[in-house]
Amino acid sequence: MSQHYDLIAIGGGSGGLSVAERAARYGARCAVIEKGPLGGTCVNVGCVPKKVMWFGASIAHTLEDAEHYGFHLGETAFDWKALKTKRDNYVHGINDWYHTYLADSNIDEIVGEARFVDARTLEVDGQHYTADHIVVAPGGAPMLPETPGAGLGITSDGFFELESLPRRVAVVGSGYIAVELAGMLNALGSDVTMLLRREHLLRDFDAMLRENLMEEMLGDGIDILARTQVREVCGADDGTLVIECENGQRLEGFDELIWAIGRYPLSAGLALGKAGIEVDASGYIPTDKFQNTNVSGVYAIGDVTGQAQLTPVAIAAGRRLGDRLFGGMADRHLAYENIATVVFSHPPIGTVGLTESEARDQHGEAVKVYQTRFTAMYNALTERKQKTAMKLVTVGAQEKVVGCHVIGPGADEMLQGFAVAIRMGATKKDLDDTVAIHPTSAEELVTMR
Ligand code: FAD
Ligand code: NDP
Repeated sequence: MSQHYDLIAIGGGSGGLSVAERAARYGARCAVIEKGPLGGTCVNVGCVPKKVMWFGASIAHTLEDAEHYGFHLGETAFDWKALKTKRDNYVHGINDWYHTYLADSNIDEIVGEARFVDARTLEVDGQHYTADHIVVAPGGAPMLPETPGAGLGITSDGFFELESLPRRVAVVGSGYIAVELAGMLNALGSDVTMLLRREHLLRDFDAMLRENLMEEMLGDGIDILARTQVREVCGADDGTLVIECENGQRLEGFDELIWAIGRYPLSAGLALGKAGIEVDASGYIPTDKFQNTNVSGVYAIGDVTGQAQLTPVAIAAGRRLGDRLFGGMADRHLAYENIATVVFSHPPIGTVGLTESEARDQHGEAVKVYQTRFTAMYNALTERKQKTAMKLVTVGAQEKVVGCHVIGPGADEMLQGFAVAIRMGATKKDLDDTVAIHPTSAEELVTMR
């Protein structure tokens, strides 16, 4: 006998929990199938534990700055284990909260790994479950390269398991995770070397952000080796790692190597073929703007779709899908343009909309750019002179703002409001007509000439 639902979500992460919660609010009978801890990547091995570590790293920077504000702290010591224990407890608290939340929301929690039997039926540990609507939200996992010895390294998942601060770390990659982990480890006291296969960090970001971040990371003492690809990783007799590079360089003495070279979708184990669900060459599930897959009644949301792999995106897509399927909102869907994002680097980056080069490709001569670079007041007194840099990308005679890019202390908290303004079609004049908040860094965004 199979159990029947209105909606089943595969995956109890950001996307799966959100669609089930929204659908259940409309009275739909829902279940979430989860093979691991509730909350998915974000809660367990992503945003949440990462942000805790970022706060810790930011405190380390503040301690460095403290004497320049007159504080004589003497020797300070950092206890990785203490921070990890508190972080893990915090995450476990969120896992527990989710069990209660599902129960309170009248959503059944099915523990185990789901596989399709057909387009309406899923199997978990030999038990069958059917649903009118099945939402595929299994997320992704970190990639390991095929490089010999790659298994001697760890990924972001392994970073969250580390029981002590590594003395010397190599971080391979140039994306969000590479710059975030490199920045945190460096601030907390590791000796960090980044290995980039090309020249740049954060390939798809505005050039101003990429260049400023590179300068800040180098200034903070991170060794960044460009055009350096790993050929092989070996273990030395003293237990450290040796990295042989394609360019002939041999790098020695690393306690850890972290691969941060992207993630792959967890679609392979779902037996999607049994339901006739198509995937692309990388395993991502294509959808239309309503999150419909090629099979009627089966939807995909979140990282498995390969679009803007961010928690709020998975949540927004899930909620809108719930509204559409059960809330009578036939046209409700997520627009994937102008999604703001923050990189929790040191200093952080906040960005929304088109980069300057994207705008020039799309709008040519109609693009006008405003930018500024300055030392924020906080850094006027400190020895560490972090720069803050900002760029507004505008288009046309009205100077409609199509991109806003900020790097510097506070950029992470600055962007949300500007993202609302840009979504509403703000022009440069709208920003200029907004009275500044003084003294802040954000005021530069409404006073730029
Ligand atoms: P997930 O959250 O990964 O959830 C999928 C769930 O499905 C998992 O729990 C998995 O166990 C389960 N599952 C998979 N297959 C099956 C199956 N067959 N049966 C049952 N269950 C299954 N995003 C941000 O917005 N801000 C950040 O600061 C941020 N930081 C990040 C830091 C790191 C280190 C990482 C790795 C990611 C970060 N992200 C961040 C990205 C964010 O975590 C993801 O975009 C988000 O979690 C995607 O949600 P999802 O629902 O698609 O998948
Ligand atoms: P990303 O896709 O952001 O970056 C990975 C980068 O690594 C690639 O762009 C590529 O850069 C480089 N790379 C790929 N293969 C290799 C290789 N073999 N050797 C060396 N470098 C390689 O992936 P991440 O793993 O950093 O993060 C995955 C996603 O998770 C992000 O895209 C983001 O959506 C999400 N995330 C969001 C965060 C946030 O919101 N703050 C934080 C962390 C993750 P290039 O091609 O330029 O060489």
